[in-house]
Amino acid sequence: MRSVEEWLYSEETGAPFAHCVSCRFPLLEIDVPWLVTKDYVGDECVLEYAVCQRCRDRVAARLSEESKAAVRGFLEREIDWEARLAEFMAAPDPAERFSECIACRTPRVLMEGSGISALFDSAGNLVTGPLPLLICRTCIVRMTALLSEQSRGVWKQFLAEHFTGPPDDSAFPGLL
Ligand SMILES: [Zn+2]
Ligand SMILES: [Zn+2]
Repeated sequence: MRSVEEWLYSEETGAPFAHCVSCRFPLLEIDVPWLVTKDYVGDECVLEYAVCQRCRDRVAARLSEESKAAVRGFLEREIDWEARLAEFMAAPDPAERFSECIACRTPRVLMEGSGISALFDSAGNLVTGPLPLLICRTCIVRMTALLSEQSRGVWKQFLAEHFTGPPDDSAFPGLL
């Protein structure tokens, strides 16, 4: 099994993420937590980034209230948080969280694609709460479909600003 470091280090550098994808500040030098997101097709990581809480909040602030409520509703409806958190507490290795989808519980080996999200505190320590988690592509697509046109545009723009290649419309990793 991959260690949690292997999961959450940058695949490109083999080291922890060092900069925010958006403001480019060194993560360890700014006094804010950050999120790491990776998007996989099968076992291949196709997109990865770290974004600081400040930049992340700026993007989230541009999403419509309806879209934010729809995503919250999805997370409440589709995820049995009480059961998942109890399992997480019982599992000493957070890497175990990446073995199945947090929502539909499909094993990762059977997924076409998936996304993982993790939260780090401002000192670079992994925060273990509802995150880190893995969610399958099918569930990400269902969640993305709940966004308004305007909110999808916000994410599309965020991805287009920082990555090359046409942004995929159907699924935005990093919604969590
Ligand atoms: Zn930033
Ligand atoms: Zn799923």
